[in-house]
Amino acid sequence: MRPPLRRALVTASSRGLGFATAQALSAQGMELLLCARDGMALAEAVAQLRAAAPGRRIEGLVCDLTEAACIERLQEAALALWSAPPQVLVCNAGGPAPGGFEAVDDAAWRTGFELTFLSTARLLRHFGAAMCEAGEGRVVTITSSTVARPMSGLTVSNALRPAVAALVRELAPQWAPRGVTINNVAPGFTATARVEQLLADAAGRAGVSVAEARAGRLAAIPAGRMGEPAEVAAAVAYFCSEAAGYVTGQTLVVDGGASLA
Ligand code: NAD
Repeated sequence: MRPPLRRALVTASSRGLGFATAQALSAQGMELLLCARDGMALAEAVAQLRAAAPGRRIEGLVCDLTEAACIERLQEAALALWSAPPQVLVCNAGGPAPGGFEAVDDAAWRTGFELTFLSTARLLRHFGAAMCEAGEGRVVTITSSTVARPMSGLTVSNALRPAVAALVRELAPQWAPRGVTINNVAPGFTATARVEQLLADAAGRAGVSVAEARAGRLAAIPAGRMGEPAEVAAAVAYFCSEAAGYVTGQTLVVDGGASLA
């Protein structure tokens, strides 16, 4: 039997879903390489994770995932940390700017593409190749429940997230013979800083208060509440676990039933 996977790279992980994922993988005993744009928040996240797992190798790299150089720096940081590539890769990034179709100009499409799709494709190309060569690995993309059902005011996400889920399905049968699984977690409304930003935007566009915008969103969730970051992280951790070794190419929607209502 192979030893358990230990080396995990979680991108965009100084807060929110990425940080919760890092916590969940740390609880499985994994060593971590994190990255984010905000150095202060990243240092705090790393310190918190180290405090919870003394002696564990946990590092952070400040970088912007929309830049190709960020991926090269992550490869170098992984080699410096482990002298080997990661065995687990969680592709997360900031969310694309909100806005309905008329509000999305060429620049917004390009920015959204670079953040939402290209950053993931680059991570998959570079780290996926190394995992396939090593003959083992777990990859998870974090997208959005917009892969299952478009959401009003999130045109870029509605259009580009499904492209990531499609890439996951394409790669799964190619990588399975080489011991690498790839799956996608698609969160709905989850309590993070991103959601507060989206609520403020939705309230502004509808001319209502943030409290009214929040009540409107909650009313559309059968579970009657927002998700917790740890609930999304648990889905990611499942795909990274020993138990999920025969599961690949799947999307798990974590949205309290909203995309089915
Ligand atoms: P968040 O804003 O709380 O955290 C985003 C994290 O990404 C931060 O650590 C930030 O530093 C990092 N980041 C942002 N842009 C980056 C970049 N260019 N390079 C490197 N790091 C970057 O967001 P969140 O709620 O945790 O969401 C994470 C992802 O999940 C986003 O893509 C978001 O759209 C998606 N999502 C979130 C929800 C939700 O309800 N929270 C729902 C569906 C999808």
